[in-house]
Amino acid sequence: MIDTLPRGDYRRRGGKIDASGPPCRPGWIDRGEVVAVAVSAQQTKPAKPMQIEKVKDGLYVIRGPFNPCAPNGCGGGYRDDGLLHEARDVAVRVTSEGLILVDDKYQNNVADVLEKVKSVSAMPIKYLLNTHHHTDHAGGDATFINMTEIIAHRNVRENFLRNKQPGAPRVTFNDQASVFLGGVEVRAYYFGRGHTNGDAVIYFPDLKVIHSGDLITEGMPVMDYNNGASAIEWVTVLDKILALDFDVVIPGHGALLTKERIRSDRQKLVTMNQRMAEFARKGVPLEQVFDALKLADLGWDHTVSTVAFKGGLKGYYEEMKAAGVRQ
Ligand SMILES: [Zn+2]
Repeated sequence: MIDTLPRGDYRRRGGKIDASGPPCRPGWIDRGEVVAVAVSAQQTKPAKPMQIEKVKDGLYVIRGPFNPCAPNGCGGGYRDDGLLHEARDVAVRVTSEGLILVDDKYQNNVADVLEKVKSVSAMPIKYLLNTHHHTDHAGGDATFINMTEIIAHRNVRENFLRNKQPGAPRVTFNDQASVFLGGVEVRAYYFGRGHTNGDAVIYFPDLKVIHSGDLITEGMPVMDYNNGASAIEWVTVLDKILALDFDVVIPGHGALLTKERIRSDRQKLVTMNQRMAEFARKGVPLEQVFDALKLADLGWDHTVSTVAFKGGLKGYYEEMKAAGVRQ
């Protein structure tokens, strides 16, 4: 999800300062325009607490909490869309010498995350890998930076600093990095721009599992052009992911997925890109583009991230227009 955490957007929530901000703050919501969300007739689903589940031996995923409207609840332009949303999936890799985490959710989720981690292992958290900087995934870095070593792509650190987001990772990499702990390797790959300009794919080679970050979620792709996204490069990024040997995907948000899901999402993204390229070529007005995309046949017209996708539509259109000019 996009969570750009605009400067100074520290809101008071339940009597506490909440630095996490809304889960998505596209510019068109900031401008106070009407948010047109397709709300179906289904009833509001009740919120559910955070949960931890086993992925494979030595690897767990922490999901939730589950909220209506958006990962951090309703407000900030997000209304009840009849779907349950959750903050980023946190992976916990248990080794004989300590734990390696992937992402940490919002800062106000940290206490619950730590409790869930302790429910499967009393070992210390030695390393934390960020898939990208969005605060529904890396907001907890502000706390974890005092407890462990955080590793991320170089652009993630730059996005932290530019967005004045607390807890910037101290260790960065450009293309690839590995953490070796207790006889286990956890590898981070950077395959190019996609959801942002700093998306890492985390690979657990001994378990044949990847953590895809927001490159793959239970919803549709969301491009954060304020932080270097690219819908065009995203396709080649997915090709590089598919070249890895794995059978289980821990997505950015949602339940575990298969490799096949990445294949089908790639095809859908190609189809959507072709439609956008055609609209840009024909000069279809931006305000008509979302409807013209006709996302229903892709199953993307009403997903947990469709509203956030609309926030990036202008950048998406401009990327396609610029690509058309270059050809
Ligand atoms: Zn994100």
